[in-house]
Amino acid sequence: MEEQREEGWGFSTRAIRTGHHRTSEGEHSEPIFPTSSFVFSSAAEAAARFSGEEPGNIYARFTNPTARNFEERLAALEGGERCVATASGMSAIWATCMGLLQAGDHIVSSRSIFGTTTILFNKYLSRFGIETGFVNLTDLAAWEAAIRPETKLLFLETPSNPLTEVADIAGLSELAHAHGCLLVVDNCLCTPALQRPLSLGADIVIHSATKYLDGQGRCIGGAVVGSHELVGEEVFGVLRTAGPTLSPFNAWVFLKGLETLDLRMQAHSRNAQQLAEWLEGHPQVGRVYFPGLPSHPQHALAMQQQQAPGSIVAFDVKGGQLAAWTLIDATRMLSITANLGDTKTTITHPASTTHGRLTPEERSRSGISNGLVRIAVGLEDIADIQADLGRGLDSL
Ligand SMILES: *Cc1c(COP(=O)(O)O)cnc(C)c1O
Repeated sequence: MEEQREEGWGFSTRAIRTGHHRTSEGEHSEPIFPTSSFVFSSAAEAAARFSGEEPGNIYARFTNPTARNFEERLAALEGGERCVATASGMSAIWATCMGLLQAGDHIVSSRSIFGTTTILFNKYLSRFGIETGFVNLTDLAAWEAAIRPETKLLFLETPSNPLTEVADIAGLSELAHAHGCLLVVDNCLCTPALQRPLSLGADIVIHSATKYLDGQGRCIGGAVVGSHELVGEEVFGVLRTAGPTLSPFNAWVFLKGLETLDLRMQAHSRNAQQLAEWLEGHPQVGRVYFPGLPSHPQHALAMQQQQAPGSIVAFDVKGGQLAAWTLIDATRMLSITANLGDTKTTITHPASTTHGRLTPEERSRSGISNGLVRIAVGLEDIADIQADLGRGLDSL
């Protein structure tokens, strides 16, 4: 189901060819520009660039051709007018809030978001008079009830991590716009290969490029995608002034990552689907959380909203924390790390790591049981991933 955009190109063509403006050297592969400043042909040209009368490079805090190559390519994939690349996923979220909010404004956010994003909202934005209310991702009535006259922004990730709950992006954009709010979606887990929130009505898409856009666990970076006005003016203004800039080298790694994004996301999803189906039939496994399973509560919505289910699979091991740790320690190939979005499969115990700072009550309210294990399924042979987990599960 390929939409046509930009000279009629399909998704993969845009992922491979958009944004490279070949130089006079005739290079075939995209160049890296490690230069902090740019030279003008005259004093008048310098003045015109600085005043904004004439487009072009000035200084690499806010204009670099390699970063722009990545920005143009990602904007084309998400279907947005503008993209601003940032030094990390967190600085993408921070720059969005700095650009679009002021003291007295209010955010309504899903409770199931990246832990550091929760800290950014609760500990730091609150110091500057921006408050955040948290709601259950899938409860549309709760979102509506939490909106106040001063609410400016609704924030979410879908599917959520680690429980893979899926939110109705189109429904939430309608709700946001009916109340004069912007809908911001952190699209890290799906990437535009699997889900394009802007086409469902969202105003801004955020990325931690560190994850699947890189895809091989090498670089830290982020991006914000949206309209000329919101992203091209407001978020870009924060980047230009405050400087959480993506390095040209990292931009180059990410733009090469985009070339294989669709292939990788389909392959991640296929591996995850097979693993989830196998886990669901295993006697030592309780509930399996994966949007591609018909038993998933939002399976139908996920299949309509996403091109494929993604790579996060979570499951309850019978026997609680001891059993979960035994399983994790019995693996020999899987990497015990909380990172995701890598060719290498990773395994974590959320209750004692990513969600370890929550009280037991908060954890159980969030559905994170002591036996929960999260897998970010990589691109190794599925038989080897299964064998590595099977050894531990069979020993329980
Ligand atoms: C990792 C992550 C972030 C933060 O990105 P960094 O690149 O680590 O700063 C934000 N949101 C989600 C969903 C993430 O997984």
